Amino acid sequence: CGIFGYLNYLVPKSRKYIVETLMDGLQRLEYRGYDSAGIAFDGGNEIPLSDSAKLPCLVVRQKGKVNDLRKAVDCLQGTNWDLEFETHAGIAHTRWATHGEPSAHNSHPQRSDENNEFVVVHNGIINNYKDLKSFLISKGYKFESETDTEVVVKLIKYLYEKHKAQGDKLTFQDLVELVIAQLEGAFSFLFKSIHFPGELAASRRGSPLLIGVKCESQLATNHIPIVFSKGAEAEFRGGLVQSPMIRPETNSEAEFHPLGANKKIEYFFASDASAVIEHTNQVIFLEDDDVAVVRDGCLTIHRIKRGDVNEPSHR
Ligand code: GLU
Repeated sequence: CGIFGYLNYLVPKSRKYIVETLMDGLQRLEYRGYDSAGIAFDGGNEIPLSDSAKLPCLVVRQKGKVNDLRKAVDCLQGTNWDLEFETHAGIAHTRWATHGEPSAHNSHPQRSDENNEFVVVHNGIINNYKDLKSFLISKGYKFESETDTEVVVKLIKYLYEKHKAQGDKLTFQDLVELVIAQLEGAFSFLFKSIHFPGELAASRRGSPLLIGVKCESQLATNHIPIVFSKGAEAEFRGGLVQSPMIRPETNSEAEFHPLGANKKIEYFFASDASAVIEHTNQVIFLEDDDVAVVRDGCLTIHRIKRGDVNEPSHR
């Protein structure tokens, strides 16, 4: 019933710090109620040499309290807990079971396969999960949980493989857009993938999700590298960003990408602001069907253009 994600870009952090930040985020969401908890972060004992290095993704899930999860994660501490990551994307979840009993294998992150190629945390309910599950089973996918959520992460892997086989190179953003187009129900999601190292993808419909942004310098705060893609400026003025407000000075992709690429920046994703407020007061609330992706430190939000937006409403 709670989602938390953390991405550091060019801000070196130890694995220990990253995991503790995720756990603290979950602890702040505990009041929402839950029966189990889990996190996913990069494993391996090597210093990641480049952004594109594919590190194994570790998933730790536990029935019970966030403190029980903390204990399970602490057991891993032996292996290079102080290893620093310049850039790292981690996700975490507290679950309130709707489909499938509370158990470790039904806890989130749910995963695409045993290598954790794609992992997802989800709040909400996927109404058409049975149809999607039958389809994916017919394509050879084997399910390991009773959750509605597992179809989502298997579907993204299916689409990734299918497009790769066709020679199309889809972005994380493209994939998440294709996935949510297939879904009925309510959701907020965070996706992480070994195929997109250092990236996080988020979306929501009917369940809350927001993004906290923390920049090192004042200059950075004035130039937060957000790209509102595909002509979404009208919707932006119509109240996309709520107080305290972050406004891009332009929605030109060209202008924002180079800034993002060199900016030290941290992103916090959460179901509610109480989990990010200790880190930053710059918060962007996502709207239904938004797809937000951080890539090369740059946040891109794709908002589907809606005809009925009344603008401007933020002043
Ligand atoms: N429907 C999902 C499940 O049962 C998510 C529940 C939640 O919102 O925590 O796993």
